[in-house]
Amino acid sequence: MQQSSLAKQNKQIDWVNASFLTLTPLIGIGGTLWYAFSNGVTWVELTIFVLMYLATGMGITGGYHRYYSHRTYDCGLPVQLFYLAFGAAAVQNSVLNWSSDHRYHHRYVDTDEDPYNILKGAFYAHMGWIFYRDTRDPAERFNNVPDLLKDRYVMFQHRHYLPLLVLFGFILPTLLGALAGRPLGGLLWGGFLRTVVVHHMTWFINSLAHLWGSRPYSLVDTARDNWWLGPFTFGEGYHNFHHKFQADYRNGLRWYQFDMTKWWINLLYWFGLVTKMRRIPEPVILKAKLRVEMEAVARRLAAANASERMWSKVQYRLEQGRQRLEAAMASYQTAKLEYKRQKDAWSAEMRRQWAEKLDAYETDFEEARARWRAMVKAMHRIPQPSAQGLLSFTVIVDILKVRLF
Ligand SMILES: [Zn+2]
Ligand SMILES: [Zn+2]
Repeated sequence: MQQSSLAKQNKQIDWVNASFLTLTPLIGIGGTLWYAFSNGVTWVELTIFVLMYLATGMGITGGYHRYYSHRTYDCGLPVQLFYLAFGAAAVQNSVLNWSSDHRYHHRYVDTDEDPYNILKGAFYAHMGWIFYRDTRDPAERFNNVPDLLKDRYVMFQHRHYLPLLVLFGFILPTLLGALAGRPLGGLLWGGFLRTVVVHHMTWFINSLAHLWGSRPYSLVDTARDNWWLGPFTFGEGYHNFHHKFQADYRNGLRWYQFDMTKWWINLLYWFGLVTKMRRIPEPVILKAKLRVEMEAVARRLAAANASERMWSKVQYRLEQGRQRLEAAMASYQTAKLEYKRQKDAWSAEMRRQWAEKLDAYETDFEEARARWRAMVKAMHRIPQPSAQGLLSFTVIVDILKVRLF
């Protein structure tokens, strides 16, 4: 694997970035406060702020991140142009730079080659890294984005990043404000304040989502799932899932998990503007989850100093439970697919029979899942290493008494 030379380069302050990162909060917060106190706040500024916030936020998460960096779905030119215009307006560099950095982040996460390595501290991962100039040779740096180098619209945005940023990020909200007679209000609320807010919302993903939360899908890196981060990050709070399954267009897997970017992509699909959203199959996701739970159980067993005999007995039982659950899930999924594929060709009677069959598979899967959960729950009752260091007898009884079939 060819490594980039990010770790080797000399750290030089990037004065353009440093001044911009210092000035935008001053103007965005100080200037907007001054304007609000001297001119009041009207629906004009609030509407421009919300529209610009949504457009630039989606430009980054729906465009820069899930479309250009991970290619999790396909979309036509109108959507691409929207992403390139409002992604530039978010003031987070061109998509070529952003996606290259982001692909390095996934590939080398938590190492020196990770541009926003959380192990260098929360501030560094959040925004500190942007203060430094990237002195790598572009030919070497961009060797992880060959697809983007071939995209003429991406390259146009890269070459004209600054004028596009000024036009869509600052002139546009000023003009919108001018239509209602408040150009300065439009500029401050929709330009400066919005830039500062969207900056921190997206940077939270690199800092907080690598610090706080759970790791249900993978324990190999620092990425965390965090339900309350979703609303602040346009739905990118389920970062453990994302690092494990970066090809999936969703971050929040379930319908109730806040993932605004997923809903936006679904909406575009509904209008026919997006195609081929990629989803990791449910059984693969379940498998990953079960692996993590098995690992947690193994750690508990080790910590409890279980005897060899007890250890193997419990592990055998858990392994059986896991296999039973995976098999039930696979049968249910296969039956669901079969039903979907054939149902139009079937008679009403055949469909009714299959619907019953599907119900039975679903019940079986849910039973297997409930039993698995009962075993994992019992494992969590093992006390942390005690003076005796013995695996509690009652816990073993609890695990062994869970019926598998
Ligand atoms: Zn990503
Ligand atoms: Zn990450």
